[in-house]
Amino acid sequence: MREYQKSVIVTKEEIATAVNGLAKQLNDKYKGKEVIAIGLLKGAFVFMADVIRQLDIDVQVEFLIVKSYKNGKTNGKPQIVLDLKKGITEKNIVIFEDIIDTGRTLAAVKEYLKYKGAKDVEIATLLTKPSKREVAVDIDYSLFTIPNEIVVGYGLDYNEYGRQFANIISLNDAGIEELKE
Ligand code: 5GP
Ligand code: MG
Repeated sequence: MREYQKSVIVTKEEIATAVNGLAKQLNDKYKGKEVIAIGLLKGAFVFMADVIRQLDIDVQVEFLIVKSYKNGKTNGKPQIVLDLKKGITEKNIVIFEDIIDTGRTLAAVKEYLKYKGAKDVEIATLLTKPSKREVAVDIDYSLFTIPNEIVVGYGLDYNEYGRQFANIISLNDAGIEELKE
């Protein structure tokens, strides 16, 4: 897998600093309130785990699986394949996402959570690729803006490879070809 690294896009130190900053903002904003953190699996699991361990507000954790990607390409129609375990009526929600690309996933998830009766839905994304945006999304917290490359690490995968890396790296052409499903 390491031979497929093109370059380091975000280092683990940069991630740690940004995660700290996000946790501070959430602690301030939701002081005295309760929040449900909803992680979009699988990509956001590392990111959300790091953030919630720095929260001193009341936080519950839920997960959603929304599928739309294969070989790094969207098929455009996000589908919910794992649903929430509890109701969210009148709850404050913070969605944790690994990367916002076309915006279709987040737009669909936000609409779904509002439909389920959430009071407030905020979006925290580790990465954003604005050059690929097709659907406008209001992003409340965005840690890093990256170029239009396929990246893995810190929870993000390419066909399930690369989630374990501490840094976020881009893949070279050999990797993209070799790891194709
Ligand atoms: P969107 O609906 O915004 O196009 O899709 C966002 C989803 O696409 C993310 O949750 C992520 O799973 C996937 N995605 C988009 N770009 C990348 C990328 O460069 N690397 C990885 N690992 N996933 C990506
Ligand atoms: Mg994802």
